[in-house]
Amino acid sequence: KLDNHPSGRHFLHIPGPSPVPSRVLRAISYQTIDHRGPEFGAFGLELLQKIRLLFKSDDPVIIYPASGTGAWEAALVNTLNPGDTVLMYESGHFAALWKRLAQRIGLNTEFISKPGLEGWRGGVDAKAIEERLKSDPDHLIKAVCVVHNETSTGVTSDIAAVRAAMDAANHPALLMVDTISGLGSANYEHSGWGVDVTVSGSQKGLMLPPGLSFNTISAKALAASKTATLPKAFWAWDEILEANQTGYFATTPATNLLYGLSEAIDMILGEGLDQVFARHQKLALACRAAVKAWGLEVLCQDPSVYSPVVTSVLVPESIDADALRKLIHEKYNLSLGTGLGKLKGKVFRIGHLGDCNELSLLAALSGCEMGLAAYGFTPKASGVVAAQNILM
Ligand code: PLP
Repeated sequence: KLDNHPSGRHFLHIPGPSPVPSRVLRAISYQTIDHRGPEFGAFGLELLQKIRLLFKSDDPVIIYPASGTGAWEAALVNTLNPGDTVLMYESGHFAALWKRLAQRIGLNTEFISKPGLEGWRGGVDAKAIEERLKSDPDHLIKAVCVVHNETSTGVTSDIAAVRAAMDAANHPALLMVDTISGLGSANYEHSGWGVDVTVSGSQKGLMLPPGLSFNTISAKALAASKTATLPKAFWAWDEILEANQTGYFATTPATNLLYGLSEAIDMILGEGLDQVFARHQKLALACRAAVKAWGLEVLCQDPSVYSPVVTSVLVPESIDADALRKLIHEKYNLSLGTGLGKLKGKVFRIGHLGDCNELSLLAALSGCEMGLAAYGFTPKASGVVAAQNILM
């Protein structure tokens, strides 16, 4: 019933879950096998090795059968103690949700925020992090947590700059990064950027259904986990890592999603990571050109951190972004992302991630353009034509 659309296919352009390619769907449909049997061990060993390539990681990747929120929690409970202070940066709605989670599990959170929407229209301010760490001579701050690609705003922050800020402050806090919506679409370097725990998820750039999430763990984070006392059982790294040594999992893995993951990694590596990132950059550039042509504003104000994954479009006060989205969904069978938190009703978000190409983006832009006109807003010029000029 759910995919019983009147005709043609549904255009899923929310910033995740993203469309799942047929190749991945087929892999997911293979028979579920014995997760303790010999075939599984060989499959698991290969998968756990090749997934490191996506994170550009020399360190192990833990795979949870959970959504991204689970992996957020896992990163914190494995490395920290009750009452520890974590420094977080308010880059948008997901940064705020991670902070709320940290508070709920008994951490003391410090949030670097800017007034109003200011912090939501640019990247993480590494200088502000450096200054705060320099004023912590007793090293009470145990972790710095930032979001790489803020899905709510369409901003991809410079994680290498955050690492450099921490080094400049000579501060030993762990660096934890959420790249739930960045991985597989925007360049990410777990080892090269000196990240201690990378958190990610399956349903965005990896082109999988929701249901898997990841922690990639540096040696320093692993060492912290040996003494960390926040309560944990299901999320505990030690038992999982031990089982992973032989390609198995501590609990029943999401076998069929792992088949899909293996296939998706092959697809991404087959296209080439650099080619995948360049494709996303080009689609994002075309999308922004369309927004400009319509006479609307991209939420992100700093071109150096425009997201290759998602573009948030600010609408004038005369438009209720959610009513516009509803109209577009009903009329053109196109799903766009809603405005989250402070942005409710103010933006709609166009996802251009994962299994997306020129024509799928152009179709989405066309739906937006017709929807804007149907809503009563006359676009200044054709965004579709502006995007075509970039994509030709
Ligand atoms: N972090 C970011 C950047 C996200 O985009 C999301 C989900 O969209 C989450 C965290 C939460 O992940 P999940 O909804 O899979 O639990």
